[in-house]
Amino acid sequence: MFDIQKIRSDFPLLQRTVYGKKLIYLDNAATTQKPQVVINRLQQYYTQENTNIHRGAHFLANEATEAYENGRERVRKFINAQHKHEILFTRGTTESINLIAHSFVQRFVNEGDEVLISAMEHHSNIVPWQLACEIKHATIKVIPMNQNGELLLDQLPHLLTDKTRIVAVTAISNALGTVNPLKKIIQIAHEHHIPVLVDGAQSVPHARTNVQDLDCDFFCFSGHKMYAPMGIGVVYGKEALLNELPPYQGGGEMVKHVTFAKTTYNELPFKFEAGTPNVEGVLGLHSAIDYLEDIGFENIEKQETDLFQYAFQKFQQRNDVRLIGTAAHHAGVISFLMNDIHPYDTGTILDHLGVAVRTGHHCAQPIMDFYEIPGTVRASFSFYNTKEEIDQLFVALDRVRQMFG
Ligand code: PLP
Repeated sequence: MFDIQKIRSDFPLLQRTVYGKKLIYLDNAATTQKPQVVINRLQQYYTQENTNIHRGAHFLANEATEAYENGRERVRKFINAQHKHEILFTRGTTESINLIAHSFVQRFVNEGDEVLISAMEHHSNIVPWQLACEIKHATIKVIPMNQNGELLLDQLPHLLTDKTRIVAVTAISNALGTVNPLKKIIQIAHEHHIPVLVDGAQSVPHARTNVQDLDCDFFCFSGHKMYAPMGIGVVYGKEALLNELPPYQGGGEMVKHVTFAKTTYNELPFKFEAGTPNVEGVLGLHSAIDYLEDIGFENIEKQETDLFQYAFQKFQQRNDVRLIGTAAHHAGVISFLMNDIHPYDTGTILDHLGVAVRTGHHCAQPIMDFYEIPGTVRASFSFYNTKEEIDQLFVALDRVRQMFG
């Protein structure tokens, strides 16, 4: 049974007030709040278990190493990867994509080659490819989208040329809420023998992920957007491809043997985890996954779909908002503008009324250029939100309209 009051009481931060008002937190696409079990796990680590992992020969070191590696296994199972060593820990989606972009381009991309991304990527799935491609004199190409914010997939087969080396695409747009047809994109790319990287930052918290079923080659996501701590992220990569890639960073743990003349590298996954990792981040991620699985993804999806549909219909009934992103397949992220009011002004007034939304370009400036707007106001939902909170959002929007006439 989905007990919303019980769930809300799991999140200490949801109980707080801002400006003397009850906080209504609708900025979940930026980061999610943390349940008490995740907070407790971090406290337990630092009060009972703290030590460095892998290299120690004492009790605590072995215990912490085991807990860290159990975390890796938990992630493997969570996204249904075939092998535990296909799971690499990073700081977040941004570092995950940088890792793959850097190593993949170094290994597989040459002058004149192409990397294909989409028109709705977050900066972290654009800039790492630009940085890596610049060194190799390779080119970035873009799958275009329509005014609803849907990718023009009929163009995909023509964009895939004999020079395309990889396709990198987001599962869900953080700025538009579009849910992309990943399976179709991956199938078309694979017909051309081209691997696909998926930016799963916005999809993992909301729907079950199955990387083997998707058949993606790389999948990247962040812990903090799925109720886990900040500073922990994941790259899933198919074993064969990861084995082909050179390391991203050098340092401790990623080596087998070092001499001044030559270094040999460790095996997967350690080849890609140089230095002391974010141990407490992995433990917190483990707890967050357990927490999500306890609630159940059917319940999460149902609650979030209900909230989205409730809010979206209310938005569509208003004549003072312009929705940015009206894709048929849409997640719980709603971007909008109110009349000709600047998004920052709308956001500031909502904030003072206790409603936390995000305003700006959402690290997706090419999308804003596409719609010729400075930015949007974005409300994004979690299963812990309620219809009453959405009602409050609309009361607050009425106040914005009153204030701006
Ligand atoms: N990709 C998407 C679609 C995002 O929404 C975000 C964050 O907002 C990122 C990548 C970057 O994630 P992080 O800042 O956790 O590295």
